[in-house]
Amino acid sequence: MSSYTASKVSEPEFELAEIRSTLAPLFKKRPELENAFKVLMIPERIIQFRVTWEDDKGQCQVNNGFRVQFSSVLGPYKGGLRLHPSVNLSILKFLGFEQIFKNALTGLHMGGGKGGSDFDPKGKSDNEIRRFCVAFMRELSRHIGADTDVPAGDIGVGGREVGFLFGAYKQMRNEWVGVLTGKGYDFGGSKIRPEATGYGCVYYAEEMIRVARGEDFKGKRVLISGAGNVAQFAALKVIELGGQVLSLSDSKGALVAEGNEGLSADFINQVADLKLKGGYLKDLSAPSGFKYVEGARPWKLVKNVDVALPSATQNELDEEDAKALVAAGLGFVAEGANMPCTLEAINVFESSRREKGNKGVWYGPGKAANCGGVAVSGLEMAQNSARLQWTDEVVDAKLKDIMKNAFEIGLETAKEFTEGGEVMGSNVAGFLKVVEAAKAQGDV
Ligand code: GLU
Repeated sequence: MSSYTASKVSEPEFELAEIRSTLAPLFKKRPELENAFKVLMIPERIIQFRVTWEDDKGQCQVNNGFRVQFSSVLGPYKGGLRLHPSVNLSILKFLGFEQIFKNALTGLHMGGGKGGSDFDPKGKSDNEIRRFCVAFMRELSRHIGADTDVPAGDIGVGGREVGFLFGAYKQMRNEWVGVLTGKGYDFGGSKIRPEATGYGCVYYAEEMIRVARGEDFKGKRVLISGAGNVAQFAALKVIELGGQVLSLSDSKGALVAEGNEGLSADFINQVADLKLKGGYLKDLSAPSGFKYVEGARPWKLVKNVDVALPSATQNELDEEDAKALVAAGLGFVAEGANMPCTLEAINVFESSRREKGNKGVWYGPGKAANCGGVAVSGLEMAQNSARLQWTDEVVDAKLKDIMKNAFEIGLETAKEFTEGGEVMGSNVAGFLKVVEAAKAQGDV
């Protein structure tokens, strides 16, 4: 998971080929749409800029900054900013393209975009992070706006960075508007935004389990990878719903159950504190019934598994892992991260489904299963426009509804085009919505 395998994802063509192949049944029925795909796969606008900032020694440092404004068909460009040394234009194009369809599945009015920088926040002081954010916003502020492009967090960008970026925009433009989401509660942030991706992923999985088996999370054995924001809140929700969280992981290794006991909410809260301070799971003593395995990912280490929620990063679950999970009795996968399962792994899940029907593995692709984060961002935009703040209960209920709909629309669309499972269904549903709107606007 630390090993963000850039080589595998750096080619947007990789992703486009995958999406294009899942759209094949649609193009067979409606060949005219293939041309629209060729239009929509080109970003409306790409902004690339130099970011110079001063480190704590007073030295000038330089990084590359990007914003890919991919599609404004359904609403203002919307999507996160990623700060990670692996960031380059190819990766952002691929993530931005995925974001268009993810945002479409939320049912809210948001276009798609993605941005970031190859700046590495690891090991930087608060002051260096702030100076970087101000320098980054100096250029970005000319291209975004509450009705134009609304960035948010992604890997390396959390509440602290969004706060610095928001403060910088406000000063530069003399405008207090909802130009970023994921803000602090006291300055326009939405309740449940930090929890949204993790909670949403579990709500999505809950719906899958209900439709497939008429069951719920009670007693389910759940493997979660990652230990960041998505994994923490997914774990807390699973525990609340009566499931057993049997693993977490980070870039240094995995913590896995040896027996039947799951992690406690208290332990997850300790992990949250640790991660805020930049620590690793290996720094905590493993709770009883758990072992820490250095350099490992959790997938092959537990023998009896019902649900997997890969919530770390790209390509963290490969074909071998998928086979081991199927052998361990896996019934459901919901992707908390963007593209955590490799194409080969997805094939393993989907062929188990083809062989065993509802008893095979149900696979929820990230663009549907992790749309909860950006969905609550959309709700934050709505609250900012209305100058209101909804309660936790109101936001949580809307999030649940959105996740249920995202699952249903994928499933229904998959049934309509009988050749594929939920991946195809979600891709077709998202694409159809964007293409119809683009046609109505005279764009394709
Ligand atoms: N980075 C998140 C995602 O991949 C959230 C984006 C947003 O809230 O705009 O969906």
